Amino acid sequence: MRQEYADLKEKISKLHVSKQSVDTYIQVGNHTIGGNNFTLIAGPCAVESSQQMHIIAQAVKAHGAHILRGGAYKPRTSPYSFQGLGHEGVKLLKEIATKYDMPIITEVVDAEHVPEIAKIADILQIGSRNMQNFALLKAVGQCKRPVLLKRGLAATVEEFLFAAEYILHAGNPEVILCERGIRTYESTTRNTLDLNAVAILKNLTHLPVLVDPSHGTGITDIMLPMSKAALACGANGVMLEVHHHPESALSDGDQALIPSEFGAIATALRKMHHV
Ligand code: PEP
Ligand code: MN
Repeated sequence: MRQEYADLKEKISKLHVSKQSVDTYIQVGNHTIGGNNFTLIAGPCAVESSQQMHIIAQAVKAHGAHILRGGAYKPRTSPYSFQGLGHEGVKLLKEIATKYDMPIITEVVDAEHVPEIAKIADILQIGSRNMQNFALLKAVGQCKRPVLLKRGLAATVEEFLFAAEYILHAGNPEVILCERGIRTYESTTRNTLDLNAVAILKNLTHLPVLVDPSHGTGITDIMLPMSKAALACGANGVMLEVHHHPESALSDGDQALIPSEFGAIATALRKMHHV
């Protein structure tokens, strides 16, 4: 066995994240994440308006998405880019998701916001840039909502697992790990989707693992094969960004699937999961 892999296995063997005899299942609304269930999260990168959210929610629901995503607090590289609608955006996301009977996931970027957002959102997302924001990890560890933890832009699997451990250690057992690609020398893709990590996480932990091919590739043309590959590696589902007008999206329009493209991926993944 590769020494580094054996070392990691040993290092985490006494931690909360390490593999138990039973997998963790996470209930959101009437959908269960984990085990043999297939989870499809979809929606825009950012909540932009009521009309935008209605159109996208209706479309992704019709194509079988279980959970509606939308960022309201956006961690943007440039301070001049759209920063999100903030708390109003979270409320808007919830209001529209309720109409379509869907649970929601949205990102939290500040420990102080956690109690308020946890009252509204069904799942709290910790973004890649905050994977090692320990104050934030402790704050979501103390709330009673499931947390989707995205892997840091340049985080090792070990660092990723220790970040998850912060949340479990603080008292919240409902953690979903999300591989969203890492930085490498390759620039054709936005990031390099690390499917090795998915298989390793499934081997080493009892937590559900989702894959985000939107940020992981940045290229809509390859999201279908990479989503299938994610499931083949044992992922419990995928999260995909969808927008009805990608060219006018306020963030990540380049990587947004239009509803019909999302529908084709959803159908293919359901078929694959069924087999
Ligand atoms: C997102 O999900 O829109 C996002 C900002 O993701 P990440 O933190 O992986 O970049
Ligand atoms: Mn995005």
